Amino acid sequence: MDYNVKSMKAEEFINHEEILETIKYANNHKDDLKLVDEILAKAKLRKGLTHKEASVLLACSDSEKVKEIYDLAEQIKKDFYGNRIVLFAPLYLSNYCINGCLYCPYHLKNKHIPRKKLTQEEVKKEVIALQDMGHKRLAIEAGEDPENNPIEYILDCIKTIYSIKHKNGAIRRVNVNIAATTVENYKKLKDAGIGTYILFQETYHKENYERLHPTGPKHNYAYHTEAMDRAMEGGIDDVGIGVLFGLDNYQYEFAGLLMHAEHLEAVHGVGPHTISVPRVKRADDIDPNEFDNSLSDEMFCKIAACIRIAVPYTGMIISTRETKEVREKIIRLGVSQISGASRTSVGGYAEKERPHDTEQFDVSDNRTLDEVVNWLMRAGYIPSFCTACYREGRTGDRFMALCKSGQIQNCCHPNALMTLKEFLLDYASLDTKEIGNKLIEKEINNIPKENVRRIVKERLVKIEEGDR
Ligand code: SAM
Repeated sequence: MDYNVKSMKAEEFINHEEILETIKYANNHKDDLKLVDEILAKAKLRKGLTHKEASVLLACSDSEKVKEIYDLAEQIKKDFYGNRIVLFAPLYLSNYCINGCLYCPYHLKNKHIPRKKLTQEEVKKEVIALQDMGHKRLAIEAGEDPENNPIEYILDCIKTIYSIKHKNGAIRRVNVNIAATTVENYKKLKDAGIGTYILFQETYHKENYERLHPTGPKHNYAYHTEAMDRAMEGGIDDVGIGVLFGLDNYQYEFAGLLMHAEHLEAVHGVGPHTISVPRVKRADDIDPNEFDNSLSDEMFCKIAACIRIAVPYTGMIISTRETKEVREKIIRLGVSQISGASRTSVGGYAEKERPHDTEQFDVSDNRTLDEVVNWLMRAGYIPSFCTACYREGRTGDRFMALCKSGQIQNCCHPNALMTLKEFLLDYASLDTKEIGNKLIEKEINNIPKENVRRIVKERLVKIEEGDR
């Protein structure tokens, strides 16, 4: 590219012509196996790929090369993230919204969805229900409505969430997924001690973006696209990007996502902390067939593998929008965080039965957290409830440095084992406990440093004795 990435605004950099050019280049070179090999060789250095190179891999249909892409994605995930999977749950605070998003049931004109906003007392009930499952990490969600959900309301909720200590439970990290806002408000979120600020671009195709968001503040494409720059200016250095796959052509979104990552890295010296890969789901008032854009499960998994290869240090998130089967396949290819036992309704966790009336979308994986933890361990993963990086101030480039140094095995791996132990003692079923304890015993031996192994063993005893 012959223009200066650093001096360009996100909207200028992630531009339509460059994306179209990238797709054209990728489709013209998808059978150029020499080029594919060169790109794979570069990817093996684990320093990432440009959006153009990664787009060629995504377009490539040669079955042997596709297998190489999958194998490499799996290996890169193992190298940087080990076999740990971090767990979290979304917490819906309010479905009041003044936007007109055509794919979201919370849109202003939807009059048959009841509107609800949690009181602080209700937030408390939700958090206790989540803590009783074993969750330590939440992503709070809210519609955009300056009157009903002003920043002060969000800040109050965060304060309430962090203040609740119940039995052995405590939410140790609150990530925030609310609409694009001002630098000043991002500073307030930073001061409230949030983890990652998450905002999905929905689609990078400006014209379609404007059509899909016909009314409300979200209609402003530039304001939305530059939100992460403002968040970073406000001092938040862990930001999570994503697109809502299905809204537009997946090749377009894939290139846009990677260009966004390139922009953040060039301008702020650190790329996105996470990339989410949500897909549009059936919801009240929404027909998902309108928005599938022919994205098969197979291509969806390939997208995840190519993201893993292109940005090796960035966490990847998959939600319960996906079925157990898709999650099983995609986790292997590079996902580092998943949600578990999610309810997408406002006030849903405090209810005995899953309520559907205020739900944002249908959840495809309805298992309990214990079932998800059990399933992960049987598949060879270590479910992790760790939030140590955030609490130790290892965010932004400091987290990336840890990841790049390969020291994760001496740091995140032991923390995962200790937080899993807490989960087993406090929340797990007998079967999960049994599998988990065996897993911890086996995995302690995979801690490279002798002294760290010893410390972990001592701490596990302390956890058994009641320390948290
Ligand atoms: N209101 C905030 C905003 O405007 O960014 C974010 C909160 S919203 C609860 C979180 C995300 O849900 C949206 O960014 C969108 O990608 C996703 N979403 C909306 N409708 C959906 C649907 N029908 N299926 C799956 N995901 C959906």
